[in-house]
Amino acid sequence: MLIFAKKYKNKKPITLQSLLQPMLNNLKSFAYNADDEDPLKKFRNYFYFPQLNGKPVLYFTGNSLGLQPVQTNNFVKKELEKWAEYGVEGHFKTDKPWFDYHKHAKNGLTHLTGALPTEVTAMNALSVNLHLLLVSFYQPKGKKTKIMMESGAFPSDQYAIETQIKWHGLDVDKNIIELTPRQGEKILRTEDILDKIQENKGELALVMLSGVNYYTGQYFDIPTITQKAQSVGAYCGWDLAHAIGNVPLELHKWNVDFAVWCSYKYLNSGPGGVGGAFVHEKYHQADVMRLAGWWGYEEKTRFQMKKGFLPEKNVDSWQLSNASILPLAAHLASLQIFIEANIYKLREKSEKLTGFLEQVIEAVKAEVNVDIDIITPQNPRERGCQLSLIVKNKGKQMFEALQNQNIIADWREPNVIRLAPVPLYNSFVDIMKFGEILKQVAINLN
Ligand SMILES: *Cc1c(COP(=O)(O)O)cnc(C)c1O
Repeated sequence: MLIFAKKYKNKKPITLQSLLQPMLNNLKSFAYNADDEDPLKKFRNYFYFPQLNGKPVLYFTGNSLGLQPVQTNNFVKKELEKWAEYGVEGHFKTDKPWFDYHKHAKNGLTHLTGALPTEVTAMNALSVNLHLLLVSFYQPKGKKTKIMMESGAFPSDQYAIETQIKWHGLDVDKNIIELTPRQGEKILRTEDILDKIQENKGELALVMLSGVNYYTGQYFDIPTITQKAQSVGAYCGWDLAHAIGNVPLELHKWNVDFAVWCSYKYLNSGPGGVGGAFVHEKYHQADVMRLAGWWGYEEKTRFQMKKGFLPEKNVDSWQLSNASILPLAAHLASLQIFIEANIYKLREKSEKLTGFLEQVIEAVKAEVNVDIDIITPQNPRERGCQLSLIVKNKGKQMFEALQNQNIIADWREPNVIRLAPVPLYNSFVDIMKFGEILKQVAINLN
């Protein structure tokens, strides 16, 4: 489709307009067509788009804070009204009582994670859930005391793991095995991860990775790595912050031990939204160590308020406190959209959108002198919808110039621009417009 760009590569540009022309013409018709034929196009109208300087933005940061669904307001309002009307009785005597309100999230969460209803719950926030599940799944014993993780993992995950190791009275430096890409490479190779697990088999207690790396956008081979970790007697846990709602997951089938996520990124459930957790059913009957609170107590006898913790026989037993209803209401509003759209269909569109973004960037590179490297894997199966660009020269200036043109992307030190075209609400035309602006910005900076 964009092979035309190569033709112009070596021609001397005459005017700015003539330079923009070849790319614009071809991309425009493709993009408008693709949007026209997009079976998911109506979902864009389910969201509010922010404005900047009185104009709508091109929003590419659904990987940081997803947009607000129009129906969220109604979902939250309904709970506020119940509270006003019923007070404490809202816990039992209303439509969707608060007592087990969190269970309504299971429908959407099972769809997104491929879990059984008993294996997923919405609770707390991501880092809290990570700690709670590390309490259960990081149980260093004898020689098996080490945790394997990505070097440069999201800071919260680093701090959680470091402090868990300290909490067990162990030396942090000696008990974290970091996975680092090969010299000159930016992403990890699955084979290297598997080898490293094998090498450390006697000492490995836990492999804890992100499903999709927040910085590079690399989507790891969850089933293969999980299986390998378990084959050497280690647990395998996943931080799905950048994976849930982005790529379809089959956590039950993949035999993942545990997973955690947040809901304000691709799940559009609002700033600081309620997090989630998965614990495989094989641990539900077992006497697994966990920190307990009353909301994890067996549901039918909870209000007998007895001494001695009796866990509910599913992931809900990891709950501590009674659920935060207002953030959960926002979560339900968004989950309903995912059920309606279907994560597999979203993924299909997502691969096309991200592929288009990649082509647009390559076309711009072919036409103007701009030093952009895409560090995200090229293989669609090894990435979600995010592309991370390294801009070697004037990267920050380029990012700021894009911002001034109403493009919302994000900047990660020292030189990475992350862009996430989200299939629920981004369009091919959004990406085409981004390409036009990127090209102008690059010309201006040259
Ligand atoms: C976004 C993100 C977090 C954020 O943690 P919170 O507890 O929700 O603030 C943690 N880990 C990863 C990998 C993330 O992408």
